Amino acid sequence: MSPPAVELRDLRVELGGASILAGVDLTVAVGEWVTVIGPNGAGKSTLLRAVGGLLAPAGAVNLFGTPINSFRRRDRARVVATVAQSPVVPAGMSVFDYVLLGRTPYIPALGRESAADLVAVREVVDRLDLGAFAHRELATLSGGERQRVFLARALAQGATLLLLDEPTSALDIGHQQEVLELVDQLRRAHRLTVLATMHDLSVAGEYADRMVLLADGRVVATGPPQEVLTEELLGTHYRAHVRVIPGEHGPLVVPVRPG
Ligand code: ADP
Ligand code: MG
Repeated sequence: MSPPAVELRDLRVELGGASILAGVDLTVAVGEWVTVIGPNGAGKSTLLRAVGGLLAPAGAVNLFGTPINSFRRRDRARVVATVAQSPVVPAGMSVFDYVLLGRTPYIPALGRESAADLVAVREVVDRLDLGAFAHRELATLSGGERQRVFLARALAQGATLLLLDEPTSALDIGHQQEVLELVDQLRRAHRLTVLATMHDLSVAGEYADRMVLLADGRVVATGPPQEVLTEELLGTHYRAHVRVIPGEHGPLVVPVRPG
């Protein structure tokens, strides 16, 4: 059997003297979509950063069976790509050049991109329907268009593990669906593994094979959406009054005013 895409054992992160993740165990199979939920400050972004190699946590982080520390930076970038919660948009950069940044791990130091890099970028730009924007300045795009560009950069990187930190929080419901459907299509077509965080719980449940509920830096529940999106768990860990209604593709979580 092939090793899982992600394997975390007793992952611990301390930042500024505070314990942010306190012993997280998590396995994500190749091709699986796992979504991490949890209240603000639970440690979701920190977890993704640790998996992406952007932090030096205690405990084990293995990607496709290899400890993350034994990848060279360049090799790691060919395996795992991150779309951050609010990526910095370089001033004056065109969409095409931004997506081309995804090819950095393939371009030799002090070298230029090759014809193959340009072909790879054009392919991704076409696949994500960004052709009309390719020469526009990234900063002038709408939120939904920009999110597609961030995804394009991650895909151009050629990584098979995508870490998506709240990829749709800035989008209206139409663009949310569009982006998530696209991620799911790409996942199926290219056997990508997706580890995401999301705030909209109903939407999170519709797209995830499995969910992880994080609270105070610990995993408090994990399983298929029906097992994690329960009135009891959400009441306890979000202090939220909700009703959970069975839906076509997973439970639908509706906030209900208390009393
Ligand atoms: P989430 O994404 O679930 O909202 P984060 O992972 O961003 O949570 O943050 C988890 C906790 O870690 C928060 O309490 C946050 O304030 C804290 N934190 C994040 N980065 C740092 C840092 N560099 N130094 C100190 N605390 C941090
Ligand atoms: Mg976050």
